[in-house]
Amino acid sequence: MKTLAVLGSTGSIGTQTLDIVRKYPDKLKVKLLAASKLSPLLKKQIEEFKPKYVYTAKKDSLEYEGITYFYGDEGLKEISDLEIDLFINGIAGIAGIKPTYYLLEKNKNLVTANKEAIICLGEILKDKYRFIFPIDSEHSAVYQCLLTGRKEDVSRIILTASGGPFRNKPIEEFESITVEEALKHPKWKMGKKVTIDSATLMNKGLEVIEAHYLFNISYENIDVVIHPDSLVHGLVEFKDGTVTANISYPDMRIPISYAISYPERWEIGANHICLWEIGKLEFFKPDYNKFPLLKIAKEVGKKGSFYPIVLTVADELAVNEFLEGHIKFTDIPVLVERVLEKSNFKDPHSLEDVISIIEETKHIFKNITMET
Ligand code: MN
Repeated sequence: MKTLAVLGSTGSIGTQTLDIVRKYPDKLKVKLLAASKLSPLLKKQIEEFKPKYVYTAKKDSLEYEGITYFYGDEGLKEISDLEIDLFINGIAGIAGIKPTYYLLEKNKNLVTANKEAIICLGEILKDKYRFIFPIDSEHSAVYQCLLTGRKEDVSRIILTASGGPFRNKPIEEFESITVEEALKHPKWKMGKKVTIDSATLMNKGLEVIEAHYLFNISYENIDVVIHPDSLVHGLVEFKDGTVTANISYPDMRIPISYAISYPERWEIGANHICLWEIGKLEFFKPDYNKFPLLKIAKEVGKKGSFYPIVLTVADELAVNEFLEGHIKFTDIPVLVERVLEKSNFKDPHSLEDVISIIEETKHIFKNITMET
């Protein structure tokens, strides 16, 4: 029996994690449910899974007997002391940074889909990243491919990108892209933030940086290939020219369940691949003119220091502005670049440094959007 903490339990990763718990009640027990607020869905989850602990970011009045309730910043530190086998971080965006930090500091086993936290803490917590098991599908794929050889024999990591909904859209039409269009991902069902990031290819840019920190591999040895079928999720190339690929239908339950069941693999009701029905797999070179954020992200990653933090925050804020209808789709990369140009900080060495870079970046972003 493995005990689980599900952080972001009401989100896309959280609800799919709980689906797996429902399938394997004899193997998994939810001990902690955590979400931003006490929503009707969280209440339903509490009643169904009867966790010992509940956490919400904002303080609320929780009326359940026998449940220890945590909230706020203090609560985050307290939950990272709990004796739980696996902490699953399905929190979206930079809100996931603090819990990631506290959990890694306590050497907890962290299963995480929260790439923003991995990126923003990369410079200060690199030595703790061996406690991380990735859920991000590409990184789960690479993790599995790496098991087929020795780390010192790896020559390249290749991440696949679906190309998003605008792969074939002419660049002249990008200005008029609506929120609705950008939220229609052709292959994956995900939260809003990551869906917009997939449409700009920023998601892949962030994943390159995530891969750099998670697998401790240099940027020269990380490639991105457009693969609209979304069947090959990640590849690892070894010195002798052999490439190991991870293939499955796109289904987030696969990387989630693998991270939970590792080293076992469980039947989770995923469709199995029929190769002759698929027939062929297509791969393309990324178009940096249409998707400048992919290129910007790689450059930012190479610069290191505070730059990946600024990139992550500026993108999250720009995506929010787009979702709220305040800016155009094509303004997202423009805003991100302007924020990067205006940012200059000392190298981060602590969580406090990271938080202050985040706050300063928010400030810079606000000033820029007020000017325009
Ligand atoms: Mn991904």
